[in-house]
Amino acid sequence: MLSRSDVGSSLHCLAMKMGLDLDVFVGSSLVDMYGKCGLGEDEEALRVFKQGVLEDLEVNDFTFSSVIRVCGSATLLELGKQIQGLCLKTSFDSSSFVGSSLISLYSKCGNIEGAFRVFQEMPVRNLGAWNALLNACSKHGHMKEVFHLFIQMEKAGFQPNFVTFLCVLMGCSHAGLVEEGQFYFNLMRERGIEPGDQHYACLVDLLGRAGDLEKAMSVINEMPMAPTESVWGALLTGCRIHGNTEMAAYAADKVFQMGPIGSGMHVLLSNAYAAAGKYTEAAMARKLLKDRGVKKETGLSWVEEGNRMHTFAAGDRRHLRSNEIYAKLKELEEEMEREGYVADTNHVLREVGGEEKRQTIGYHSERLAIAFSLITFPPERPIRVMKNLRVCGDCHTAIKFMSKCTGRKIIVRDNNRFHHFENGSCSCGDYW
Ligand SMILES: [Zn+2]
Ligand SMILES: [Zn+2]
Repeated sequence: MLSRSDVGSSLHCLAMKMGLDLDVFVGSSLVDMYGKCGLGEDEEALRVFKQGVLEDLEVNDFTFSSVIRVCGSATLLELGKQIQGLCLKTSFDSSSFVGSSLISLYSKCGNIEGAFRVFQEMPVRNLGAWNALLNACSKHGHMKEVFHLFIQMEKAGFQPNFVTFLCVLMGCSHAGLVEEGQFYFNLMRERGIEPGDQHYACLVDLLGRAGDLEKAMSVINEMPMAPTESVWGALLTGCRIHGNTEMAAYAADKVFQMGPIGSGMHVLLSNAYAAAGKYTEAAMARKLLKDRGVKKETGLSWVEEGNRMHTFAAGDRRHLRSNEIYAKLKELEEEMEREGYVADTNHVLREVGGEEKRQTIGYHSERLAIAFSLITFPPERPIRVMKNLRVCGDCHTAIKFMSKCTGRKIIVRDNNRFHHFENGSCSCGDYW
């Protein structure tokens, strides 16, 4: 006989293992956890949870919804689908909370079609469900759908909120849609919502990336609240792309005055100062980074196969099928070169810090994950790879060639967005 605490602890176990306490982008700790607790325990936890559901132990739609969110954060689609099946059996599938979580689950696992299906089958949709689908489309770069959904949700009588606008603005910023972004930013006030610092960061990012740094700067100056680290970070990114070293150094000074900052920011600062020829400041930023003992995150990619997660680091040879994976990559590279692919090693050295070094060029984690999928998945199954860091320029080019040479659909989620590779091109239009 199961007690309530059994269900509780198995939920907790699931949550722990799947990184509920972690950020959306599950990093190396996930690998640790998978290393420590084998697959058997996952199945055990799920079995106890299932049993609890069948015995009707205070498992409600909130419980389901949070377990599905856990699966989403850990990008465990197969496990999430099993829980979806349980929802169906217990009729919790009609809950809009469960629906919203399912939409995020499918989206986070790179399956946008699945997210749409869940939305369409929902008997009742709340604002959360609309926002979840809007967010999904935005993250996947389907901006036409985003704008369409926005109109539809207003027609259906839902008032877009803070989150809705943030999703739209982030999408515009990723897709480089300057006019649309400005339009929605202004629309916020018309709808009676005062933009928050995250909305400002999106607008600055959008203008900065598009090269309108002066305008980005004036947006910052006109902010009603103090600009946050992410607002300055957005400006710094724009400055880096467009080579405005002077403005970058100015922004860097501003950030420095703010006090403690995140580790990513130290790198941005140090690079900004170095580019402006301010080597003393650059050294200072690096020293701060060292003093605080901030470690760079290891680049990791993972794919789900059955209920198992296969995780790879750059140049990793720990996987059981390592030899086959490397052979596949070698074979593929020859084909890619025949199609015109040339490895851009400078790119890698410029963009990628210590963790993915020169000797691993060609063996960055996402390539290993793709090669593993190529030798494992049936040909019709799209390849979905998750990565905790940004995809480097050379891998981005390489994956385009891979999609062309293999005829496979390859979806890569990096720490920022989704890339859908098909037939030699990517949905981000090389703008990421
Ligand atoms: Zn790479
Ligand atoms: Zn892309």
